[in-house]
Amino acid sequence: MGIINVLDKHVAELIAAGEVVERPASVIKELVENAIDAGASAVTVEIKNGGITYMRVTDNGSGIFRDDVAVSFLRHATSKVHSQDDLDTISTLGFRGEALASIAAVSHVELLTRTQDELAGTRYVIDGGVEQICEDAGCAQGTTIVVRDLFYNTPARMKFLKKDVVEANAIAAILDRIALSHPEVSLRFLRDSREALHSPGDGKLKSAVYAVYGREFTSGLIPVDYELNGVKLWGFISKPSAARPNRSMQQFFINGRYIKSRTAMVALEEAFKGSIMVGKVPACVLHLKIAFQAVDVNVHPTKIEVRFMNEKPIFDAVYHGVKTALNQGDTPNVLSLPK
Ligand code: ADP
Ligand code: MG
Repeated sequence: MGIINVLDKHVAELIAAGEVVERPASVIKELVENAIDAGASAVTVEIKNGGITYMRVTDNGSGIFRDDVAVSFLRHATSKVHSQDDLDTISTLGFRGEALASIAAVSHVELLTRTQDELAGTRYVIDGGVEQICEDAGCAQGTTIVVRDLFYNTPARMKFLKKDVVEANAIAAILDRIALSHPEVSLRFLRDSREALHSPGDGKLKSAVYAVYGREFTSGLIPVDYELNGVKLWGFISKPSAARPNRSMQQFFINGRYIKSRTAMVALEEAFKGSIMVGKVPACVLHLKIAFQAVDVNVHPTKIEVRFMNEKPIFDAVYHGVKTALNQGDTPNVLSLPK
């Protein structure tokens, strides 16, 4: 007699949800990315208690058709991928169709949404993955999602949550990166009713950097604008004199997505070698753009680590782009130094 059984749907669902939803910050990341994928120009994020009891994300994007609302909460339900070929050219932030299903499996979710074409909007309530209400509701075009009591039905997960302030900081870090990766979207963050971030959404990276890091940091930046072997590189690096003790302000984005890339980090620091103090590292906000085919975003559910088909063009573009910017940025200072 065998001892293997296939997990029942509910248990399988909770396990799968755990892959996507680790903590409140993962929920916020997924919801804001959905808003951006829906073409929103303004997104507001509100949280209470580190997001554990309450998170609300409001966007002015496309909205969801009534007929799609329940479907959008099914696992592997997405409007962003239709065929295998689409996987090679993903230009949206989401594509797995797992976020809403995962979030709804482990919390109380209320969704309000309306498309431009519909007169009435939809209010949809789903608890622990089970639909409770689907009804007409008056609302503006766009989508509002409220997520309450994360992990209320998975106490083991709940135990791993950190203090409210730590979870709220993790959310703030995610939102900083989203603001920096999408300067065309105005992002507002209300943390226990206090405004903690408000990027203008004017499309200028510098405005987003200002909103995130403030005046002092922004005023000391060197612009980068470079292209090499099909890799475009733009953004800002810190002046060598403003080097930092750690890498927390090294931000890389590829095709509009925040990434961790050892190659890019090493290239940045190599380019700075000799011009900053040993033990210090540069800060940067650098965007890379390469052919969608050259990067595989399909590595991990949270998609922070990406794989490049070939790391060398990335290294070369970052290294030479930063070097060039440093030379240009430094020249006037060097010349004006008293000898
Ligand atoms: P994915 O983003 O990978 O497609 P999700 O589970 O995050 O999967 O969302 C499922 C679908 O629900 C999306 O493909 C999209 O069609 C719809 N959707 C989710 N959030 C929004 C939103 N804020 N505005 C418009 N449509 C949305
Ligand atoms: Mg999504």
